[in-house]
Amino acid sequence: MSARAQSFGRDDGRLENHFEDKYPPLSPSEAAFEAARCLYCFDAPCIKSCPTAIDIPTFIRKIATGNLRGSARTILRSNLLGASCARVCPVEVLCESTCVYLEQDREPIPIGRLQRHAMDLGASPDLLTKREPTGRSVALVGAGPASLACAGTLALLGHRAVLFERESLAGGLNVSGVAPYKLRVDGALREVEFIERLGVEIRTRTTVGKDVTAEQLLDDYDAVFLGPGLGGDSHLGIEGEDGPGVIGATHWIRGMKTDPGHKLDGVRRAVVIGGGNTAIDVARELKALGIHTVSMAYRRRRGAMSAYDHEVKPGLDEGVALIEEAAVAEIVRDHGRVTGVRVVDTDDGVPTDRTRAVFPTDLVVVAIGQAKLRALAEQFDGVTCDDRGRIVVDPDTFATGNPRVFAGGDAVNGGKEVVNAAHDGQAAARAIDAMLRGEQDA
Ligand SMILES: Cc1cc2nc3c(=O)[nH]c(=O)nc-3n(C[C@H](O)[C@H](O)[C@H](O)COP(=O)(O)OP(=O)(O)OC[C@H]3O[C@@H](n4cnc5c(N)ncnc54)[C@H](O)[C@@H]3O)c2cc1C
Ligand code: SF4
Repeated sequence: MSARAQSFGRDDGRLENHFEDKYPPLSPSEAAFEAARCLYCFDAPCIKSCPTAIDIPTFIRKIATGNLRGSARTILRSNLLGASCARVCPVEVLCESTCVYLEQDREPIPIGRLQRHAMDLGASPDLLTKREPTGRSVALVGAGPASLACAGTLALLGHRAVLFERESLAGGLNVSGVAPYKLRVDGALREVEFIERLGVEIRTRTTVGKDVTAEQLLDDYDAVFLGPGLGGDSHLGIEGEDGPGVIGATHWIRGMKTDPGHKLDGVRRAVVIGGGNTAIDVARELKALGIHTVSMAYRRRRGAMSAYDHEVKPGLDEGVALIEEAAVAEIVRDHGRVTGVRVVDTDDGVPTDRTRAVFPTDLVVVAIGQAKLRALAEQFDGVTCDDRGRIVVDPDTFATGNPRVFAGGDAVNGGKEVVNAAHDGQAAARAIDAMLRGEQDA
């Protein structure tokens, strides 16, 4: 393990260390058993439900024959982030949800866990062929999954790829956002290093728009890829929100995963505001960290939550309480310290002035979404955003209104999954390659 990944060890005091893997690795015999169950379906539905169209039956067949390097190569050819996707993908609604075994009411093939087995034991940068250097270069804004997948693909296609990342760690939300029982910081950093070993350069602590301008990137590079993800946590704009004891969800998760100084001392009760995947992640994480009472306040009924049911159900089983049709109208403080939230009833999701109760709490986590980075995107000449702040691109090439600027990931789709970001980045890289080679031939 490299020094960077090693510096996030099991005994460095980070709260992330309290979590165990949701799905521990398969043993070789378990992997062989599961791989042998795959029917190698013709026109396999599982491939169609993978956003990066990994040839799932083929990589599984290679596991069954003991060819783990070949299996990893099959995965990497479609998805350079196959290692993190194996752990973080919501397989319950993607590949595994279409496995033909479900039609017979039988357990689907555990595709995610088999992919992890192949990637953990078989992946290596030397599996991938690199084309001759072209002398062309591409700047990438951000070093999250979208930019990493784009940069790795560009490097394999022979182009110089340089990522500019404002944080001290590359990896985006794979490092700082994804629940630690799916992917730990050291695992995410190992994947970043894998991409670097393909020949990619990453400049951390460099904010585009501040340390380097859009014009500089356009002047110094042949093309630019925008993969800045989403912005900071959205605010409620209610009384009592500003001050200690109230924190945005991604801010809280980042601290829990990466900062040994981030503690939950004195917190016995917590209220999480929101009904999406981030809200349920935070609620489950707080519960697993031993917080006695964890409640989620959500404006509508459970059925309307955007969070996946396969995350909500276990969360409720673990003891998270759901307060439905409720909006937090005020954070109640006593001498500055948070003591409760005043909750009002909602009517069709809209807060009313009917106070339901004041729920006592020590901590409030606001998980109502993230801002968009419109201002950053629009620093690039010709790049536009839609009325929801998402960068507008061609759906096939991921080209923006500026023919030399491409974009993908959360900044374009408004917030989906890692696998969608990987798909976008790779598709954009192929379009950038076509553009650069077209220019060369012209
Ligand atoms: C709490 C949470 C949990 C999630 N859990 C899952 C999950 O379990 N499974 C799953 O598949 N997906 C999950 N997702 C979604 C997934 O993390 C994102 O879809 C994915 O990370 C998007 O990748 P991206 O590269 O577009 O953006 P990001 O991962 O956000 O990366 C963008 C990078 O750009 C950098 N950046 C931004 N602005 C600048 C600038 N001006 N200059 C330089 N750098 C900049 C940022 O610091 C960041 O590192 C989760 C998201 C959240 C918020
Ligand atoms: S649908 Fe299931 S059984 Fe068929 S190829 Fe995919 S994983 Fe194998």
